Amino acid sequence: MPAVFFGHGSPMNTLDDNRYTRAWREFGAVTSTPRAIVCISAHWYINATAVTAMPRPRTIHDFYGFPQALFDFEYPAPGDPALAAEIVDLLAPTWVGLDHDSWGLDHGTWSVLAHAFPEANIPVVQLSINADKPFDYHLQVGRALAPLLDRGVLIVGSGNVVHHLGMIDQNLPDTGFDWAHRFDDEARRLMTTSPGQIATLGSHPDVRLAVPTPDHFLPLVYIAGIADALGATAEVLIDGYAYGSLSMTSYTVRG
Ligand code: ZN
Repeated sequence: MPAVFFGHGSPMNTLDDNRYTRAWREFGAVTSTPRAIVCISAHWYINATAVTAMPRPRTIHDFYGFPQALFDFEYPAPGDPALAAEIVDLLAPTWVGLDHDSWGLDHGTWSVLAHAFPEANIPVVQLSINADKPFDYHLQVGRALAPLLDRGVLIVGSGNVVHHLGMIDQNLPDTGFDWAHRFDDEARRLMTTSPGQIATLGSHPDVRLAVPTPDHFLPLVYIAGIADALGATAEVLIDGYAYGSLSMTSYTVRG
């Protein structure tokens, strides 16, 4: 199985048809059906590493100010409690909590899976991002997840390499600021040549603008860790910019 990072952008991409959503659809269409999907979403950013372990995860509408159609959207994929337990074993001695009732599938997960796997019939487990940990921890957890690919599990990171909501300019729907390009270009260089060095972006001159909070960037670090464990590099699936301060670059890593 491959691993993939989706630059998810606006929640409206769930319902839209654009060049990004078509690339995500194409990815799903050419990927053999996985046994299950593990998704590391920017939107489950908490003070622990945990996995969803319920058989029927609810669809979480974790945003506001969007049209009712988005609040009505459901992604009824089943969970996979056995896979959740498998992840706990795989990541030991790193402690991983089993979440039975607090989370579910958030829009970081379903905004992209709605296109890649629109039938919502493949089990999905979310892995949280531990907000207390440094880049290297996330890289290491990513490395430890790599064996899942050989077990038929697709691993998805969903975030945005460049994500600064406070600097969004609605007049620039398809444009990136200069600093966004500089940061995204360096991320691309690292992902396509030496993904194990991804944490060096933490000292990039534009990091404070590109990554004002780490939540949307860290899913990329997991996918970089997987690539590093495999001795592989990433390929760009689709790229572009939105509203000046978001990059939409997506990457695949062939397992
Ligand atoms: Zn997001």
